[in-house]
Amino acid sequence: MRIVIKVGTSTLTTKEGLLNEQYIFNLAKEVFSLREQGHKILIVSSGAVSAGKTHLCIKDKHKTLREKQAFAAVGQPLLMSAYSKAFAEYNNSVSQILLTRDVFDRRANYINVRNTLNTLIENDIIPIINENDSVSIDEINFGDNDMLSALVALAINAEKLIIFTDVDGVYNGTPKASSLIPKIDHITEEIEKLTSSTSSSGRGTGGMKTKIIAAKIATASGVETIITNGTKLNLLKEIVLGSFIGTTILASKKHLEAKKSWIAFSKKPKGTIFVDQKAEDFLLNKGKSLLAVGITKISGAFKRGDTINIANAQTKKDFARGLTNYDSDILEKVKGKKSQEIKNIVDAGEGEIIHRDNLVIISN
Ligand code: GLU
Repeated sequence: MRIVIKVGTSTLTTKEGLLNEQYIFNLAKEVFSLREQGHKILIVSSGAVSAGKTHLCIKDKHKTLREKQAFAAVGQPLLMSAYSKAFAEYNNSVSQILLTRDVFDRRANYINVRNTLNTLIENDIIPIINENDSVSIDEINFGDNDMLSALVALAINAEKLIIFTDVDGVYNGTPKASSLIPKIDHITEEIEKLTSSTSSSGRGTGGMKTKIIAAKIATASGVETIITNGTKLNLLKEIVLGSFIGTTILASKKHLEAKKSWIAFSKKPKGTIFVDQKAEDFLLNKGKSLLAVGITKISGAFKRGDTINIANAQTKKDFARGLTNYDSDILEKVKGKKSQEIKNIVDAGEGEIIHRDNLVIISN
């Protein structure tokens, strides 16, 4: 089984912000025994910013973006050194992969990273993946490593994504054993409301909200997601065997095929096309491509090949995503027009604005 394990800063570091080397040793031990059983493991690890900051003895809580980027540059080699040391105890090699969001945007880069990850795990080398924080800027960041771990799980067709955190799972109310939700079939709006809080430890970035967003993406693409307490490393084997420890969010039965989940989740949307009710019905219920005639408004500046959200013009709610055949400035000229008319306005190669094969329904 291919398993992505995500470990957050609050799990990996001490209260003082130092890397918890003992924890990393224990993780290596558990991962080693999973590998002995034939599983392929990838680790998405945070902790670089915190480790770098503490290493430099910086106490101040509020730091600028460039300072955080500098801390990551100091902390990332410390993090890798801790992983290398721990896995060497079990004769396992580790490798470092640092990613930025834009790598997932371009299909060629995406395929390259996928090939590298596959080559590493096929050769029993454990990828330790983190965001390349030192070069990431707003437009190209993942936001948090929960999102990164979901996109990695999609890229390598993982069966499970295990997100380790500092609570036991998702709670229905105040955190106590009786309110822990062991199994979620489908992430509803209610679950999203329950989990709208952000990180409480002050060291990590996400909190439960970003974990649920990551789980939504992973499960829609066929990856079962488990949100569980990272301190209970000894339960990892049981989790992999399917025991409900923490909260398990089941993979959607009718999940998206690989290319469509890349369009829907891995590529960052660059704009929105608003359509009338008739066009929405055609897309949702008749399996049609998007034509110019149903488009009422366009927002954002985008190019042919970018991922675009499709929203209902009245409700403003996104219901699909797809790869546009036209740049936004051309769409401004052709919106609302019939396919024959378009041919007189632009040199239209394709009649469709977004072809059905490149279109994904994200809710209905
Ligand atoms: N990439 C960051 C780090 O290594 C952490 C981001 C996150 O925790 O979501 O420190």
